Amino acid sequence: MKIEILTLFPALCEAVLSESILGRARAGGLVEISARNIRDYTKDKHRRVDDAPYGGGYGMIMQAQPIADCFAALCADWGCRPHLVYLSPQGKALTQTRCRELAALPYLALLCGHYEGVDERVLEALADEEISIGDYVLTGGELPALVLCDAIARLLPGVLPADEVFREESHFAGLLEHPQYTRPPVWEGRTVPAVLREGNHALQQRWKKEQALARTRRKRPDLLTRTNTPEEENKLC
Ligand code: SAM
Repeated sequence: MKIEILTLFPALCEAVLSESILGRARAGGLVEISARNIRDYTKDKHRRVDDAPYGGGYGMIMQAQPIADCFAALCADWGCRPHLVYLSPQGKALTQTRCRELAALPYLALLCGHYEGVDERVLEALADEEISIGDYVLTGGELPALVLCDAIARLLPGVLPADEVFREESHFAGLLEHPQYTRPPVWEGRTVPAVLREGNHALQQRWKKEQALARTRRKRPDLLTRTNTPEEENKLC
């Protein structure tokens, strides 16, 4: 899969993309993620990419032309038009289900706004969808784009040691994950549940399912009231 982040701050993205699991996945060719500087496409002789909002108001608005030309250059380089996501606090809230759907795409472009946002016309013309990472406002779309890259990349084959790693995790099948423990067996008087220390795999699986359901009920009851897919129903049984 190829992902391109369209941003005014490519170095910020690169710093995150080079580290840890994402860095290894990129180095190993399991995913191609890079950042393209929108400023490189401005036609302004002072390399400006923003201007004051029509109708007054605070801050600056990113102009349509550099963004449109940046996206056109990406399409030309890739020889196709990738699905374009605009990261926005006004977008649909990101979910694990949407991450799985996006992870199935071969090409993806992520547009990061900055300052007060982006000229609406370029969004109307080019954006296929808007995604928000939560009901709060950040200074730019770079962190949301990196959140999306991380959430997508770990679903791609070979990035994690096995698919089971994320299949067991919170939100994959509509539940939160069961509690986890590691050595030592007793820490400050708190003991790892006996069932996990003993070798009965079937009992351990049952305990994990019960715990997942119990803690979802306690911490996120809203997840249980959503319509479940057959996969989710399976996990609930
Ligand atoms: N004026 C805009 C509004 O009220 O909707 C907010 C602009 S915000 C300060 C600047 C940029 O940060 C946005 O264009 C968007 O790309 C990004 N951004 C901020 N919060 C976000 C969120 N919760 N999810 C995704 N992107 C976000």
